[in-house]
Amino acid sequence: MSETLLAVDDLEKYFPVKSGVLKRTTGHVKAVDGVSFQIDRGETMALIGESGSGKSTVAKTIVGLHEATGGTVWFDGEDVTHPSEEQLDEMRDRIQMVFQDPTSSLNPRRTVGTSIEVPMQVRGVPAPERQERISELLDLVELNDEYLYKYPHELSGGQKQRINIARAISIEPDLLLLDEPTSALDVSVQAKIIGLLEDLQRELDLTYLFITHDLSLVRNFADETAVMYLGQIQEKGPTREVFHRPRHPYSRALLSAIPVTSEEEESYKPRHEPLEGEIPSPRDVPSGCRFRTRCPYETATCETVEPAFTDTDGGPLVRCHVYDENYADEFDEVPDVGATAAVDDTSSDGGSGQFAVTSDGE
Ligand code: SF4
Repeated sequence: MSETLLAVDDLEKYFPVKSGVLKRTTGHVKAVDGVSFQIDRGETMALIGESGSGKSTVAKTIVGLHEATGGTVWFDGEDVTHPSEEQLDEMRDRIQMVFQDPTSSLNPRRTVGTSIEVPMQVRGVPAPERQERISELLDLVELNDEYLYKYPHELSGGQKQRINIARAISIEPDLLLLDEPTSALDVSVQAKIIGLLEDLQRELDLTYLFITHDLSLVRNFADETAVMYLGQIQEKGPTREVFHRPRHPYSRALLSAIPVTSEEEESYKPRHEPLEGEIPSPRDVPSGCRFRTRCPYETATCETVEPAFTDTDGGPLVRCHVYDENYADEFDEVPDVGATAAVDDTSSDGGSGQFAVTSDGE
């Protein structure tokens, strides 16, 4: 039976904006604004979206680098939203982060061996055990003892990220928060790091929250995918569903822009639906649907009513009025979007990425 390791419920992280001589709070940057998801032990969840959508802030708030301004974070059944010192200590052992830049994550004056050893030393692992474990870890990340005395400047980007991953798993955590761990690497190296992460997950029963703006990376890697826009999740569900039949106009625009590597992927890629304009400032979130300023299907309702999640006939949960039976009529004249939330499973178009229009909800 699956067991939830991490549950995030209505998480908020607002940063105050201060101005004037007295530095009064005049507004808030809503970096994370009501985000909910959960990850089962041993599974991978991908958080995707453009830069500025709040993905990294979610991860930093989970581990306590930012203090949550609302909502709850549950880790292994315990409320760790505002962790005590004791909880923080335990979380440092059980949750590790791997960051985007493999170079700045390593101390340039430390050898590879010392870099991997330090987290174990801090946690009181005896010296002989540490030495044995360092060799094991190098082996796990597909390097060897020849690297023990090398310095970061002697390593490639991919090798540095392998060392960062070895450091992260050295104290046997349960959860890795992977914040764009491959985006600074060459494409060929990215694939190897993803392969390594998959192997480690199988061997060590690790759970991953994988944050990226590179959608092609998570297509075959993540069990669940959540699409973030301007501090909020707009669509979430099984990765295959989200990639094969994206419902939300934002997901569709993102997915229509990624390169495909096979005929099968080409067959379900949405038609080209380019994203117009820039993502608005999280200090000035649009009223109603926050995606409306870039959405080709906007109606008057979209301007005034914030969409709640709609269950799309057992598919992903989507924040879009197109799929809400209360507003479906407004979209009758937008045939590409469809009149209802119903997506025809039997349609031959089911994999084409077009919204499949069914008549039963009209
Ligand atoms: S609610 Fe309206 S503006 Fe928002 S994504 Fe759906 S159609 Fe577009």
